[in-house]
This record gives sequence, structure tokens and C-alpha cells, in this order.
Amino acid sequence: MDPVLIVGAGIVGLTLGQALKQNNIPFEIYERDSTPEARGQGWAITLHWALEYLFKMLSEETLSRIQDVQVDPDVASNDNGNFLFINLETGEPRFKIPPNLRWRVNREKMRRALLHGIEEHVHWGRRVVGLNFPEDENQVQLVFDDQEIVTGRLAVGVEGSRSMVRQVLRPDAFDNTPIGINFTGVAVDLTPEEIQPLRDMDPLLFQGCHPTTGDFFWFSMLETPLINGTANTTAERYRAQICMSWPEKSPEDQVATTNDGRLANMKRRAQGFVPFLRQAVDRIPSGTPVTEIKLADWECLDWNNHSGRVTLAGDAAHAMTMYRGEAANHGLLDAYRLMEAINHIYSGSLTASIALDTYEEEMRVRTRRAVQLSRQACRDAHDWGRLDETSAILTKRAIVAN
Ligand SMILES: Cc1cc2nc3c(=O)[nH]c(=O)nc-3n(C[C@H](O)[C@H](O)[C@H](O)COP(=O)(O)OP(=O)(O)OC[C@H]3O[C@@H](n4cnc5c(N)ncnc54)[C@H](O)[C@@H]3O)c2cc1C
Repeated sequence: MDPVLIVGAGIVGLTLGQALKQNNIPFEIYERDSTPEARGQGWAITLHWALEYLFKMLSEETLSRIQDVQVDPDVASNDNGNFLFINLETGEPRFKIPPNLRWRVNREKMRRALLHGIEEHVHWGRRVVGLNFPEDENQVQLVFDDQEIVTGRLAVGVEGSRSMVRQVLRPDAFDNTPIGINFTGVAVDLTPEEIQPLRDMDPLLFQGCHPTTGDFFWFSMLETPLINGTANTTAERYRAQICMSWPEKSPEDQVATTNDGRLANMKRRAQGFVPFLRQAVDRIPSGTPVTEIKLADWECLDWNNHSGRVTLAGDAAHAMTMYRGEAANHGLLDAYRLMEAINHIYSGSLTASIALDTYEEEMRVRTRRAVQLSRQACRDAHDWGRLDETSAILTKRAIVAN
């Protein structure tokens, strides 16, 4: 049979490729980036409830490669951290929740770990710009920016939150909906002394809200000395991510167009923070690139899958804000369910139409709720008065403190 055509070599597209390889199903992945290294450092993500599906989909070798790209090997072997949400004015925890099993991994390194063993099926520098649906209902075609065309059995759009395939399937409603909250972040190098008070809160990540301003702060570890090779040298350093977000209530709340303006905004907003957090923001060196992430979402609307010839997964199917930290976890579960559906199609046990309808039905119910909860979590995270045990930022997590 013709191969499955996967558009996008992000973590969800590559996981699906690995899962299909395990099932001996032909596939090809097309990625617009010119090389695996074309992107910057990116961020870290926590794999938690989707780990059980990763364990079922991937080979031991791939799992061990992913396990090896956790941001802090010490925490990976003895995780005594918590999900912490603090009062930014006092540093006091508002919520403190012991996590279940979690792997906090560098996203770009996880992508490289997932590439291993399927390299010959991943085609770099191939931007997909359109789809054709030939008369033969067992075929679909991808069109590239150089007008080349490839034919497959079915196409999967996993090209992220600004998906081209989504645009083909829902030309009337493909745009993400903005949340009205702005977000910027930096990656900074810190000495062991500088990072200590942050790591004392939690070695991997914590977040909080300022009770008066509603500003939100997020710390997350990206690299420890053991990972970046500076351990036991005189130049030991950690790399951390410091992010802030705030509701846009007036024109002054818009994200500045210059890097200096963005950094000045973060420093200004941190002035009311507890001293160790204010210092962490104050010492971000001038000239550090400040990245804006546009907070917007897409609720996995309905689409026509053309008799089981095309579908979506990951952020392409359900863009959500990161305030519950589960978008990738949903994407990985999509990959697992889609692998099951594709198995049915290639073995002939279900028609493509029924297999993809079933896959999409489960995903829609699950992720529409997830998108809404993440949106609510994002709003709650900026409204101290609304934060309580029922907040979407905590739902489904057992509260043990405060
Ligand atoms: C700051 C931050 C923190 C996060 N933390 C967490 C977390 O802790 N836990 C969690 O579960 N999730 C988290 N997320 C969400 C997570 O990063 C995403 O859900 C996940 O990376 C989505 O993976 P994906 O494969 O669907 O899409 P992507 O990673 O966006 O990959 C899409 C790929 O498609 C390619 N592409 C795009 N267009 C085309 C085209 N036309 N043709 C060919 N290729 C194309 C892109 O180059 C890209 O490589 C976080 C997100 C952010 C921003």
C-alpha cells in the first residue's frame, strides 16, 4: 500500500513515525526545517500522563534516548519536587502538589532522540503547501512549495498550531483565537549561587501570580552543569527559562516591538516581586533575546476527512495555552490512537473512513475540554482572587498543602 504521509517532524509527527515503524507500516515525514538543527534552543516540556502511551508505542532504545535528554539527571533519578504555584509578592506557596511520574525533557533534544532509526524516512527542507484528493479514494497527494507532488494512502497534518492542513480542511475557521494575555520569555545562564534560591523552590519548575497586578511568572530548568559539560569546572553554569505573562488591559500592555523594550517590561513588572525573584529578572543581561509566544487556541473543530484520507494531530488539531502543561501529552496520546486507527486501515479490519472517524471522535471530546481548561487555567493564573482548589490550573491534581 501507499505510505502514510506525515506533514511535520515535531515531537508528535516523529512519535507517530516511530510507532508506525514498530508496526511495519510504510510512512514518510516531510518537514519544512532545512535540518534537524535549524531551530533554536526552544524550551523544555514535561511528559507526565502520556508516558504510559509512549511506553506502549516506542522501542526500548528510543525510550532510553528520550529518558537521557531530561533536563536534570539528578532530579530524573530522584524527583522530590512539586507542582508549585506561589504568591509572587511573598514567595509563599499557594498550592504545592507532589507530581506523578514526570520526565522533563529538552524539546529539541527529544526531537533528535525520536529521529534515531527513522532518519531515512524524514525529508528536510520540504514545505507542504497544499493537498489533492484524486478520484481514487485510496489516495491523497501532498503538494510542495516547488510544485512537486507525492502520493500516499492518507495524510496526517502534525505541523503545529499554525497548520496548513488545518487551513485546507477548515478554510473558514482555521485561525487560532487570541486569549488577550501577552507572554514573553528568555533563556539565561546562571551561576550555582544565582540559581540556588530558584532551585530551592523547585529543581525543575514553578510558577506564580502577583496578587495585586495579576502578573504571572514561570521558572523552568533547561540545562544543569552535568548536561552542558561545565560540572566540576570553575565556570559551572545552569541554563534556565524565565517567562512572564500579563493580561492586555491597555495599550501599554502590548508586547514592545524592540528587544530592549521587552526586557524593560519584564524588569518593570518584577519590581513588586519577592526579592529573590526580582533579582532573578533584574540580572537578565541586556541584549538577551526576549521571545514572544502568542497565546491563542483552537478547539478541534469538525472537518471533513475525505473518506479517511486526511486528518490532524497534535497542536495542529488542538492548539492550547501551556498553563496546564499538557498540549504535548495530548499530542502523544493522539499519536497512539492514530497508530491504532492506521493499523486497522492497513490490516483491512476497518474502512479508512470508520477508522479515522473513530479516532477523531475520541480526540475531539478529549481535547475540546483540554483547550477550554487550558484557556481557563491561563485566565485563572492572572487572577489571584479566582485561584482556589477548583481552578483549572489544578484540576485533576491532588492538593496537599495550603
Ligand atoms: C513555553 C512552552 C512550554 C510548554 N510546556 C509543555 C509541557 O510542559 N507539557 C506539554 O505537554 N506541553 C507543553 N507545551 C506544548 C508543546 O510544546 C507542544 O504541544 C508540542 O511541541 C507540539 O508538538 P507538535 O509535534 O504537534 O508540533 P510542533 O512541535 O510545532 O511541530 C510541528 C512541525 O511541523 C513543521 N511544519 C510546519 N509547517 C509545515 C509545512 N507546511 N510543511 C512541512 N512542515 C511543517 C514545523 O517546522 C515543526 O517542525 C509547551 C509549549 C510552550 C510554548
